[in-house]
Amino acid sequence: MLTKETLKKEIEEALYSTAGKSFAESDLTDKYYALGNVVRKHTGKIWSETGKNQRASKAKTVYYFSMEYLTGKFMEKNLEYLGIYEVVKDFFEDHDICLGDLFDIEAEPGLGNGGLGRLAVAFLDSLSSMSMPGHGYGLRYEKGLFKQSIENGYQKEEPQNWLKEQNIWEFKRPSEAVEVRYGGGIQVIPIGKKFTFRHVDYSIVKAVPYDTPFIGYKNHNVNTLRLWSAESTEDLNLKEFSKGNLCGAFNKIDEVKSICQVLYPDDSYYDGKRLRLKQEYFLVSAGVQDVVRKSVNNGIPLEELHKYTAIHINDTHPAMAVPELMRILMDEYYMEWEQAWKITVKTCAFTNHTLLEEAMEKWDISLYRDLLPRIWQITEEINNRFLAELRNVHRITSAEAMDKLSIIHQNTVRMVNLSIVGSHSINGVAKLHSDLLKERELRHFYNIYPQKFNNKTNGIIHRHWLLSANKNLADLTEDLIGPGFKTNPIQMRELLKHSNDKQVLDRIMEIKHENKKNLSKYIYDTTGIKTNPHGIFDIQAKRIHEYKRQLMNILHVMYLYDKLKTNPNMDMVPRTFIFAGKAAPGYYIAKEIIKLINTVARVVNSDLTIKDKLKIVFLEDYSVSLATKMIPAADVSEQISTATKEASGTSNMKYMMNGAITLATLDGANIEIMKEVGENNIVVFGLKDYEVYDFYQRGNYDPQSLYFGNPVIKETIDKLVNGYFRVPYGEFQPIYDSLVKYGDRYFILKDFESYMQAQRKIGNMYRNKYQWAEMSLSNTACSGAFSSDYTIGRYANEIWGVKTLTPRKD
Ligand SMILES: *Cc1c(COP(=O)(O)O)cnc(C)c1O
Repeated sequence: MLTKETLKKEIEEALYSTAGKSFAESDLTDKYYALGNVVRKHTGKIWSETGKNQRASKAKTVYYFSMEYLTGKFMEKNLEYLGIYEVVKDFFEDHDICLGDLFDIEAEPGLGNGGLGRLAVAFLDSLSSMSMPGHGYGLRYEKGLFKQSIENGYQKEEPQNWLKEQNIWEFKRPSEAVEVRYGGGIQVIPIGKKFTFRHVDYSIVKAVPYDTPFIGYKNHNVNTLRLWSAESTEDLNLKEFSKGNLCGAFNKIDEVKSICQVLYPDDSYYDGKRLRLKQEYFLVSAGVQDVVRKSVNNGIPLEELHKYTAIHINDTHPAMAVPELMRILMDEYYMEWEQAWKITVKTCAFTNHTLLEEAMEKWDISLYRDLLPRIWQITEEINNRFLAELRNVHRITSAEAMDKLSIIHQNTVRMVNLSIVGSHSINGVAKLHSDLLKERELRHFYNIYPQKFNNKTNGIIHRHWLLSANKNLADLTEDLIGPGFKTNPIQMRELLKHSNDKQVLDRIMEIKHENKKNLSKYIYDTTGIKTNPHGIFDIQAKRIHEYKRQLMNILHVMYLYDKLKTNPNMDMVPRTFIFAGKAAPGYYIAKEIIKLINTVARVVNSDLTIKDKLKIVFLEDYSVSLATKMIPAADVSEQISTATKEASGTSNMKYMMNGAITLATLDGANIEIMKEVGENNIVVFGLKDYEVYDFYQRGNYDPQSLYFGNPVIKETIDKLVNGYFRVPYGEFQPIYDSLVKYGDRYFILKDFESYMQAQRKIGNMYRNKYQWAEMSLSNTACSGAFSSDYTIGRYANEIWGVKTLTPRKD
């Protein structure tokens, strides 16, 4: 146990060594770094013991490969997980310092776009908290996802320089650097009856690891997130330098450094850029080399690698782990193809994250071959053998089926196909999504490899989204049902016993009101907009994407505003619609939707005639920290994607846990949320998955008949282009055209009527306070099932074969 006295001594010592100052002389930033050093020290010993224990046991270990990790800040979490939060808080309070101010100093790493990156972090958190051997590999982007600001209603992007100040959570390990090779050619050298392959004329980039400890929740276990950074093998080109060509001398270094400069700001979108392919191979090559090296150093026979090691491919971005592992086993350890292939398939597993066509990675062969000649050769051979297997073993004769299955297709390499062929497990991320993979998008693969397909519904870190983000709700829960839910969140169901206790329901509404007041203050401080915490807080915060349909939400707000203008005395519960989210900088329509939201907000918020019944807020620069402020304050959670488009969603689970009522289409994990909480405690609307597919199949969706046939729809949509919002002529024409002229790809007009009805229902339900509070309680109570601990339990059991390893102290 760390006492206040010991802590005082440790912080004073740390201040002398990091700042050269006494406690009295130091400022808040000095204290943040000193505290960080104390945490590093306490973490370090457990980290070392965990590593020793894992190596000594040779327990099966999973390596999670992901191009994104949306970590959030670390300080608060690390204190909490080490079990020293209270003593640290006490100590600083004695000195009149609020811990929150210390936490604010930390820069949030933006190493992810959205849900996919946050999921990777949830998995590392759960692996560590369940004492399972599991570590992450990723890239150390120097600039994270761009920083968003709103200027004149438009999104503006700036680089996010999260490493500008020192990052106290990382440990650079230069002695464990590996080399990654690009370009050049392949020499085939016959040795007896065999061939060996020699890579020549390549260029080398050094991959240097930076390790961040991932602390488990009060369980004496610390796993690792290893992020690779690119360094040049030569300092600068001395020849060019001595010739006086300074630019030339640094050129190569800049080219190398560019690999880890930025995270591509695309979410669920694929753009065949050469630098992105370089990044993906950088992660895969450094990571797989590291896995093999660690295994060999630990005395693991490579012939049995799959018994000790699992490699997980998070979406197709790290799909080249398959040919890279083949390359290492064959070219560096002289294994035969057949044996290397068996080991590779048994080692690798793949998660599919989307059905969106525009998100499917397909690399041009010429790019792939030139940048990665040996990986291309191996990929081509994998495909040749796979096509032979299709003909000879599976007796496939249909040209259509062969065409759909082939990894190489029309001058491109299809990364989904490569991932499936090279893995023993393919999972979707919610039940509906996994079913659609089997029945529709990947049915040809399902027909030949049914045993590979499975579902693993996504999850969230309840420790973050409940215990830390909503301490009052967590405390109430503990008062009512005891502390067991903190480590076994399914126990939250016991809250249901209190559904009819008015005192409990009052307390639930009080806590929500407190959270809304806090968010209201944040909104006022950052935007100057006054909001009414007695009204409904209706929130949609996520990446801006047409399929997520922020447009439908704001069109409904425009409709409400019109009704209020016609009848200012209309009896309506005051409502605040709150939006947040970034649009990819190149995604024109998404950026126009942001502009539309802000345009409607400016007009509505400044209109005194509607008596503050309606407010619209767009909060800039959505991040984990901002989500942590917003989600506990939500009454209504907008989860309104076109059915079949949102593979799972995870923010839907976070809102549910915080007692918001979900306004949902039957898409992704919304369906499972409805099953858990019951149909009476969620509001659903809109097309079902099979109705959407029916429209596709028949090609008979006709938004124009809805536009011309429904005056409410027409009047609302016309406001985009008839000068109503006093924007330059034509500003929102592209949005209007996407609905009326270009076929309304996301069925907004089709779902609009039932969305309006659902919103009306929400408004009416909110008037009955106890009914609402009971629904809210039920949502929290039934959300425990979505803890990522259970998700990881299923991955560990059914895919990886990884088990809990009892932590040991030295
Ligand atoms: C949970 C989360 C997401 C994912 O949200 P969805 O609504 O599931 O797309 C995105 N960004 C952040 C910061 C999150 O915390």
